[in-house]
Amino acid sequence: MKTSQIPFRTLREAPAEAIIASHQLMMRADLIRKLGNGLYTYMPLGLKAYRKLEQIIKEELDASGAMEFKPTVVVPGDIWKESGRWDTMGPQMLKAQNRQQQDMVVSPTAEEAYTAIMRQGLTSYKQLPINCYQINTKYRDEIRPRYGVMRGREFNMMDGYTLNEDDESLDKSYKAYAAAYLRIFKRAGLTVIPVKADTGAMGGSGSEEFMVESDIGDDTLIICPDCGYAANVEKASCKQDAAVDNDGKPQVKTDKAIEEVATPNVFSIEDMEKFFNSTPKTFIKALVYRVINSSLDLSGAPYCKDLKTKTEGAITFYPVSYVCVLIRADLEVNEAKLAGVLKASEVVLAEDEEIRAIAGAPHGFVGPVTVKCPILQDLSVNDMHDAIAGSGKEGFHIKHVEPERDYSAWMNADVRTVKPGDMCPNCGGIFYSRKGNELGHIFKLGKKYTESMGVTYLDKNGKAAVPTMGCYGIGVDRVLASIVERFHDDKGIMWPMSIAPYQVAIVPIKYKDAMKEASDTLYEQLSKAGIQVLLDDRDERPGVKFNDMDLIGFPVRITVGDKNLPNVEIKLRASDNAAELVPLESAAARVADIVHAELAKLCAE
Ligand code: ATP
Ligand code: MG
Repeated sequence: MKTSQIPFRTLREAPAEAIIASHQLMMRADLIRKLGNGLYTYMPLGLKAYRKLEQIIKEELDASGAMEFKPTVVVPGDIWKESGRWDTMGPQMLKAQNRQQQDMVVSPTAEEAYTAIMRQGLTSYKQLPINCYQINTKYRDEIRPRYGVMRGREFNMMDGYTLNEDDESLDKSYKAYAAAYLRIFKRAGLTVIPVKADTGAMGGSGSEEFMVESDIGDDTLIICPDCGYAANVEKASCKQDAAVDNDGKPQVKTDKAIEEVATPNVFSIEDMEKFFNSTPKTFIKALVYRVINSSLDLSGAPYCKDLKTKTEGAITFYPVSYVCVLIRADLEVNEAKLAGVLKASEVVLAEDEEIRAIAGAPHGFVGPVTVKCPILQDLSVNDMHDAIAGSGKEGFHIKHVEPERDYSAWMNADVRTVKPGDMCPNCGGIFYSRKGNELGHIFKLGKKYTESMGVTYLDKNGKAAVPTMGCYGIGVDRVLASIVERFHDDKGIMWPMSIAPYQVAIVPIKYKDAMKEASDTLYEQLSKAGIQVLLDDRDERPGVKFNDMDLIGFPVRITVGDKNLPNVEIKLRASDNAAELVPLESAAARVADIVHAELAKLCAE
């Protein structure tokens, strides 16, 4: 390919809204152009890199036993109603109606489509497992699309799904995807950390995210230096540290009855510390949450018998309910963990008006003894004694609170935010934390979709059975952006050999006479050798051409200048070493060796 054929123009400055390196460089190198908020076009050079990444994904998944298929992007709303996610997906999902007023969905993900497609024709256990993936357009109406293609509204996902006979078979599929992911990321030049992830409202029994460490990451990873435990903070749990008193001794049960204390002007935990002259470890913090779309059965929970339910497909859920979370006051509630425990799509701190109606007092004074909604008690409260808590009356707290004596929790669960310094539940190691960016996800879904959408087959004994299911995703654009984020310098991108739009750029100082002839020869030799090569035939100053090639980030540059002929210069983009002077006749072979060696390195186990 010749640069004159490619519609591209590089930019000296990135648009002001691009604040991270990958977004800036992808825009400056003209790999992507913006069409609307969260909507990016891959320009030809960007698409080349994108396609190479896609190809790696396909090769590794095909080798792992998966098969590519291609559902439509626009799917009937009915299948989302069957699964129960028509409402619970929330405003991320783009819905539309066609001319017959039928509800349609622009796929944000494809569990429903896969299930609806694969239940057609499934009769026998002999057909299982069914393991298919697509690499296809997704749309999510993200509130804050940002960082270019790192978080777009329209983006491309590899999403694979398996239907399995039993947990053992699902585990095999799950592990095969995990292994393929590691090979994919390795070939793309990235080091990833698989972390335990939240299974959230999706239910399911196991889930891992594949993270790259990144300062601009949206996720917080909790890592144990001793045993390698790694988890998203939305999932992480820790060894419970004992509830202690001001002297650091375990709290002791009291026989004293609850006593009300007037606490005017005491609103925050800090105020309480001062007022009671006591550590927050002796306070029970009570927070009222509004819970959206919980699919837990709340029929037996206190104060819940009049709650409205909604049924969609086989799923019954509570569009709105409330819960009062109790947690030791030196700790924070993790809302993702809480939503997971409650099988809810979202939890939000209740507004003042709602809290007053439920607790009789604003936040700060909510009391476990008086609150009129189910109590969810974090594990940190289980061994608390003689505690101080809100009274349910503004301006008053209560002392000598004994959990279980003075109130009963409806549920006990781990909802605390794990922090650096907390202890690993496996080995007691001290956690540290890193920012991470999620590139991929694997998920044991169980029977949520197959049950709600009525998928059955005949098992070995001729009995009707429901298959179990896994889903597996990689954000292709996000991986591409992460590669740029990881491999760049002040001149531009430094593509790994496996992803570069072209592996080699030939830059003649002037594309005429002997330099043209030598460049054309090299171009032909390299193309014949199967090397992807770009010839910069533009009539531009050499400096402009060098800068552009460095900005776009081709791994190898061959400079053809009449001063050096019959030698040419080979320069590696990612190396500080000086250019290597090589005779023209051996240059193509030398470059082919470099390219192959680099590719082999990325493939090595
Ligand atoms: P996030 O927490 O970042 O919003 P998610 O948990 O919603 O991601 P999944 O539903 O697990 O994402 O989707 C699989 C993969 O798709 C993610 O691992 C991520 O790489 C990618 N992805 C998700 N949302 C976007 C987006 N808006 N833009 C680009 N890639 C995305
Ligand atoms: Mg995810």
